Amino acid sequence: NGFVQYGLSEDIGRALEGLAFNEPTEVQREVIPVVLQGRDIVVKSQTGSGKTAAYGIPLCELVSWEENKPQVLILTPTRELAVQVKEDLTNIGRFKRVKAAAIYGKQPFHIQKLELKQKTHIVAGTPGRVLDHIEKGTFPLSKLAYLVIDEADEMLNMGFIDQVEAIIKRLPAERVTMLFSATLPEDVDQLRRNYMRDPVSVEI
Ligand code: AMP
Repeated sequence: NGFVQYGLSEDIGRALEGLAFNEPTEVQREVIPVVLQGRDIVVKSQTGSGKTAAYGIPLCELVSWEENKPQVLILTPTRELAVQVKEDLTNIGRFKRVKAAAIYGKQPFHIQKLELKQKTHIVAGTPGRVLDHIEKGTFPLSKLAYLVIDEADEMLNMGFIDQVEAIIKRLPAERVTMLFSATLPEDVDQLRRNYMRDPVSVEI
């Protein structure tokens, strides 16, 4: 099994076997070691390359199960992607009992509020609703250590730049930031320059 080299815990290794992830894809080979080292990373890659697991595997490995407050925030342009990310990470973290939530508009706020109050390690969400929870004080941020900006170019094309920046400004400065994008236009590069710390750059 090609994932053995990363020294992942047995819980994560067993889940990967169950998913029949036997060999890391190219983007996973580039991203997993960097995230495990705690460095920021910018990844130019297409969907379908295995990018969700590229950040999902190391993040499921790194979250502390004992900590009840969210440690990982994944921003996605759409509700569909937020739900998909939640499901993928729940599967990877299955034997570690990693709890992931999806937070998006057009779903009752109070249900999400309760979810965020219970044990939740990982939150995937769209920028508008995530910011809404942050501003209303229903999204605990004190333990947030990892931020993933997924499909960054799509997110900015959809006009989410102000919300994304407002969210980032509220997060603890001491964190790891990962940015994934199919293209790297100027506004995406601006996110890199303004909010990331000496990131590794990879292009798939
Ligand atoms: P994504 O690019 O994240 O949308 O992933 C594309 C598809 O590849 C998903 O259906 C994943 O379940 C699958 N996948 C991701 N990593 C692997 C792997 N290492 N081996 C086999 N399939 C994988």
